[in-house]
Amino acid sequence: MVSKSTHADEVIELLITLVQNKCINPPGTEVKSISTIKNHLTQHNIPCQVVQTSAPERANLIAEINGDGSGPSLMFGPSHVDVVPIGNESAWEVDPFSGVIKDEQIWGRGTLDMLFIVATQVQAFVRLFEEGFKPKGDLKLCLVADEEAGGIYGTEWLMKNHPDFMKVDYAVGEAGGIPIAPGRLLLGTGEKGAGWKRISFKGTPTHGSMPYKSDNAVVKAAIAADRLSKYTPPVNLDYIKLMAKGLGLNKVTQLLLSHRIFLPLVLKMSHRQNPVMARLLHALSRMTISPNIFHGGTKTNIVAGEAYLDVDIRTLPNQDDQYIAAQLRKAMGNLGAEAIIEHPPDQPGFFTSEGTASDPQSEIVPYMVKAVAEVYPEVQFVPLVMAGATDLRYLREQGTQAYGFSLFDPDTPINTMATLPHGPNERVSLKTVEYSLIAYYNLAKEFLGH
Ligand SMILES: [Zn+2]
Repeated sequence: MVSKSTHADEVIELLITLVQNKCINPPGTEVKSISTIKNHLTQHNIPCQVVQTSAPERANLIAEINGDGSGPSLMFGPSHVDVVPIGNESAWEVDPFSGVIKDEQIWGRGTLDMLFIVATQVQAFVRLFEEGFKPKGDLKLCLVADEEAGGIYGTEWLMKNHPDFMKVDYAVGEAGGIPIAPGRLLLGTGEKGAGWKRISFKGTPTHGSMPYKSDNAVVKAAIAADRLSKYTPPVNLDYIKLMAKGLGLNKVTQLLLSHRIFLPLVLKMSHRQNPVMARLLHALSRMTISPNIFHGGTKTNIVAGEAYLDVDIRTLPNQDDQYIAAQLRKAMGNLGAEAIIEHPPDQPGFFTSEGTASDPQSEIVPYMVKAVAEVYPEVQFVPLVMAGATDLRYLREQGTQAYGFSLFDPDTPINTMATLPHGPNERVSLKTVEYSLIAYYNLAKEFLGH
């Protein structure tokens, strides 16, 4: 049997290598990290299968410890090995792909989203395998490509090509186990949907030297972007209320959150004290619209004949495509009628998904409480419907109870947690890595064990 400290060393070494592999999506090239993990498992004599996809250099990895069928099955993952680009390099304090350890943190793109989870789930699996763990239900390990661009070569590929492996009762993945108040951790129980759109405008190309009363597509798109960003879609307080209750907020705040008319006031107040909380409350209360890419025109001396906006739209459960289009047209006022709204299928990175939610009180939740008890005794999990989308939605759609569950160190500021993923100076504390390894190991052992 390998000692616990060896596992702690190995998991950090693994995480650093995953960062250094630089699996930026696009193009992903996830086969680098999938091979790293395969080699790691092979060194421990653990069988696994690398699932190659139709795209070169894009692969997934699956492995399992079979149970005797006397209990429910559990999946570690699907957890993604791809990362987003680094953005503005000068904003980074360190080389974003060095995986350097500084101030008790491992730095680098992907550390938080979600390579530390990949590394700790792999290592928890290794430890259980080496101990000869005999679970009741299957314990599965599922590591995937392409989450950051919608999952076509990752989880979606596995759902289509390995449906039996993907059939699982419970799954744990990214975005949970975050301390939000004393004795309370966030548990990702659901997520908003995504309905990304391209909104295009046509103009009449004429000479740019005489623009009087010209029909300019760039100007129209600019006005549309402004209107979209200021528009307030219908507000729904159901998801905020669920969280407010779990957080044990005081009666006054709960009362304020109980009626729509107070929400602008609550948002304004909380933005002053805690901007991240304000953004979260805002996102949980409506469909959000963020015009993030602007393209238009062909030449400085030609009035723009065409322009388009790519818009990030996140929906609450039960808001479909028709709802999105109607809201967008309304938001754009007189420009709504002429705007062309479409889902560009040829564009990597565009995706559509519906909001999904799992049971915040399912039979695994008490085992999660036990699994984290050595770090957080007597903790309560607060259900969170996340603003962003993850691969867990694929599993929820087939009936799996899937949760964002890992374990962050108590010193993690919730604000940092919301800004570091996809931002500069992404990093994860050594303690969070250590605690997550403990949490996954304990959860599988307790929940699946005899
Ligand atoms: Zn992620």
